[in-house]
Amino acid sequence: MKITQKRKVNRYMSFFRNNYGFHVPYQVLIDGTFCLAALEGQVRVGEQLSKYFQSELKLLTTQCVILEMEKIGPSINGALSICKQFAVHKCGHEKKPVLASKCLESMIADNNPNRYIIATQDPSLREVARAVPGTPVLYLHIRSPTLEKPSQQSTELAGATIKSSIHDQGCTMERLRQLKKQELGSQTGEEKRFKRRKAKGPNPLSCKKKKKKIGTREPSQKALTSSVQAQRPKRRKRVKIAEHIRQELAARLNVPRTTD
Ligand SMILES: [Zn+2]
Repeated sequence: MKITQKRKVNRYMSFFRNNYGFHVPYQVLIDGTFCLAALEGQVRVGEQLSKYFQSELKLLTTQCVILEMEKIGPSINGALSICKQFAVHKCGHEKKPVLASKCLESMIADNNPNRYIIATQDPSLREVARAVPGTPVLYLHIRSPTLEKPSQQSTELAGATIKSSIHDQGCTMERLRQLKKQELGSQTGEEKRFKRRKAKGPNPLSCKKKKKKIGTREPSQKALTSSVQAQRPKRRKRVKIAEHIRQELAARLNVPRTTD
């Protein structure tokens, strides 16, 4: 599969996932025409489709589809055996089978609540499926599975949903703004009552220092320290004399003076 094709499938399926709640494993509802095309193109449906969607799939059909194919006869026995490989999903027509196209149409009625991907080669069924918002349509183009671009109905409804959600969000935002305003209002009221302060003077940091007058000069730090020192009683300084000098001196003092 080409990279551009891969990207396209991913883009389309992410659209259905984000807007219509599709999730893996995707449910593919297959009719007889698709099985016939698969037989003619020798397409291994299970293998090819899971490669194409790059994810797990649930391949489904209905009893009405199988019964209609059986009625056609042995000419489509090959296609019928392909169809019988898939799980038979309850369609609600067990007692009174209807045309396969009508059966699949009923399965996607009311905006495809069970999130089926419709796999068919029938142009009229594809048209019906396109008209149901949130219904991916798959067909075989020669041998390649091809997912149709999300239909106008799908994109329009998704757009409307997004718009309404944005509108809701807008309302929520407006309400939040109002609440914030009220909150701020109540806070400012309290501040008015309790916390309001008036400026007492100019900001001292933004003012120049006052110039000192020469006449009334304050005593400098040096003068202050000297005056403090003067008040204190003077201490005697002790002079340390080395031990050997002291001994020498004592010896000299003890020696009686000789008179010449
Ligand atoms: Zn049915």
